Amino acid sequence: MSVTKNEKQIKVILLGDSGVGKSCIINRYINDLYDPNLESTLGSNASSKLIKKDRVSYILNLWDTTGQEKYHSITNLFIKGSNIVILVYSIDSLSSFKGLDFWYKSVNEKLEGDNFVLAVVGSKSDLIENQDEVVSEEEAKKFAKEKNALFKLVSSKEDPDGINNLFESLLDELIKNNYLTENKSYVIDKRNHKDSGKRKKYKKNNCC
Ligand code: GDP
Ligand code: MG
Repeated sequence: MSVTKNEKQIKVILLGDSGVGKSCIINRYINDLYDPNLESTLGSNASSKLIKKDRVSYILNLWDTTGQEKYHSITNLFIKGSNIVILVYSIDSLSSFKGLDFWYKSVNEKLEGDNFVLAVVGSKSDLIENQDEVVSEEEAKKFAKEKNALFKLVSSKEDPDGINNLFESLLDELIKNNYLTENKSYVIDKRNHKDSGKRKKYKKNNCC
């Protein structure tokens, strides 16, 4: 992937327990599709989306990861170099919300000293209407606030606009905070899943 002056590569990683809806969020955002029968993610997958703003092309490289416990150490390896981190829980699973402590800790370890934008996302918000909700929105908001993170409830199934809005808000936050360096974007080498370009050492996260 070539990097031009007005092109910025952004690494976005989605983390969270298995089954919370990470792959469905990405499938909705990239392909505008909802497929409940998506195969479960093994290791990680990367897919990209181009967003143009003020004559700059932002290439969002979305890294889907598996939340399965046996792959935790592999998933942890992919966190490095992320500009945007999305911690996902499912509103109908209290254990997935509790699981965010583990993912947040991993992020702090791997991105210590880096600048990045963080979000806490409650997925499957359409289930609220079925009264299946077990995670309190207030509690989740509080958790996000403590972590200086953006908070959103989304539904890949029923609310495509909400998914678009999530990524737009995160990109805006990244730009607003000037967390991307001039011409020092990095490129994902999809063959071996390593960052192959240079990237500025960011300052501490003080997002939203
Ligand atoms: P991942 O393991 O975090 O990648 O989870 P998936 O994206 O594979 O989603 C797991 C399952 O959750 C899917 O097969 C769907 O059945 C369900 N699911 C995902 N997103 C939604 C949503 O927005 N609403 C509802 N009701 N179910 C969802
Ligand atoms: Mg998945």
